[in-house]
Amino acid sequence: MSKASADALVLGAGPAALSIAAALSKENLRVDVLAKNDPSETWPYTYGIWGEEVDGLGLNHLLEHRWENTVSFFGPGSKNAEAEENQPTPHHRDYGLFDKKKLQLYWLDQCNSAKVTWHRGVATDLDINSSISTVTTSEGKKITARLVIDASGYEPVFLSSKQNEPIAVQTCYGIVGRFNKPPLENGQFILMDYRCDHLNNSERKEPPTFLYAMDMGGGSFFLEETSLGLAPPLEIDTLKARLKKRLDNRGLKIVSLEHEELGLFLPMNKPLPDLDQPLLGFGGAAAMVHPASGYLVGSLLRRGPELAKAIAQVMQDPNASPAEIAQSGWKVLWPNELRRKQALYQFGLEKLMRFEENQLREFFTSFFGLPSEQWYGFLTNTLSLGELVAAMWTMFTGASWKVRWGLMGMQGRELKLLWQFLRPGN
Ligand SMILES: Cc1cc2nc3c(=O)[nH]c(=O)nc-3n(C[C@H](O)[C@H](O)[C@H](O)COP(=O)(O)OP(=O)(O)OC[C@H]3O[C@@H](n4cnc5c(N)ncnc54)[C@H](O)[C@@H]3O)c2cc1C
Repeated sequence: MSKASADALVLGAGPAALSIAAALSKENLRVDVLAKNDPSETWPYTYGIWGEEVDGLGLNHLLEHRWENTVSFFGPGSKNAEAEENQPTPHHRDYGLFDKKKLQLYWLDQCNSAKVTWHRGVATDLDINSSISTVTTSEGKKITARLVIDASGYEPVFLSSKQNEPIAVQTCYGIVGRFNKPPLENGQFILMDYRCDHLNNSERKEPPTFLYAMDMGGGSFFLEETSLGLAPPLEIDTLKARLKKRLDNRGLKIVSLEHEELGLFLPMNKPLPDLDQPLLGFGGAAAMVHPASGYLVGSLLRRGPELAKAIAQVMQDPNASPAEIAQSGWKVLWPNELRRKQALYQFGLEKLMRFEENQLREFFTSFFGLPSEQWYGFLTNTLSLGELVAAMWTMFTGASWKVRWGLMGMQGRELKLLWQFLRPGN
């Protein structure tokens, strides 16, 4: 029988750590959390989510904004085709932005009412034997638990991976401000604006970027120039210059700058963690970020309770070792089907990263031309493997020849990813 002071020790205080700590405490487990920062400190990012996802979770009250007028622009890019260029693709789906304070409190309240124990410090060492896991902080404090869950973000402190591939990184440069005229329609949300009439021919051959934008209400707008994913990542200065050109071309001037997001980096295709290790991971640390959209929060909310239940169940055996508990957790977190889907998504991302700007625009026109359930399920990772393959096949057969050729030619690690789809390892 283990003498650990907690059942689970969660590392981190981001969305992943708080969500799994809340879910574990709901299962009546003794939970400790160790984080560098104060768990009530405001998170640096903003978190978007599709309306249907948040409704399915019954958490619409945690949104700060919700848009019905949701569109993208994938126009043809020729200066002569201005009308077509400015034709939006309507998504006919609501999109929301979390009130990040409310989301954080939603989890913190659950943790506090279940008496989670909070520790401040930087985890530096981990020792796991057959009955107990011990984490040591930079100040020499030791905390013991039956299981350690590393939720310390994209560069996890203890989790390891068997693969060592270059990581595609999404980069963004964003501003919130007021403009001399509205940069988008009142009450509008733009998922992707791939119009490039502000770029000259040679600039159009450079890695494409798009605008993610929303009306925040009260005359304020959020505009973010984004690179979908590249290895090595696109420079923030390039994104900043692109956004300026885009605004200049439309006669838009910033009247007041309320907030500037300087240099946000989001790793998109992190390799799977080693699923044999005797500790668990959750969130960005455990490669749970969607490789196509970069989103995570919906999946944390959907999957945390299921994982917590599996952990609670195996912990009913007082002699279960940390390795056995972690094994049960990994099976729930990364089952065969999900690993195969991950390989397909990563394969798709590899393709998109090679596409030129006009190929990318044609690709997205076809993608959002899929039945709404298919593209939505693709972007939220809620399709079964069979449904995902069917969606990708429909998309392939409906695409132009230019896009099909781009999807067919195998380069770099694409074959390896297809192999992982057929025979998922870890
Ligand atoms: C620019 C950007 C935009 C995004 N937009 C969205 C979006 O719209 N929707 C969406 O769903 N997702 C989005 N994401 C993805 C994802 O939701 C976030 O990246 C999320 O913050 C990841 O959560 P996490 O808890 O795994 O890691 P983090 O938020 O990085 O938290 C890690 C925690 O671990 C702590 N920590 C680190 N090292 C140690 C250590 N040694 N000891 C103790 N504690 C430690 C840190 O202090 C921190 O508290 C976005 C990401 C980025 C970068």
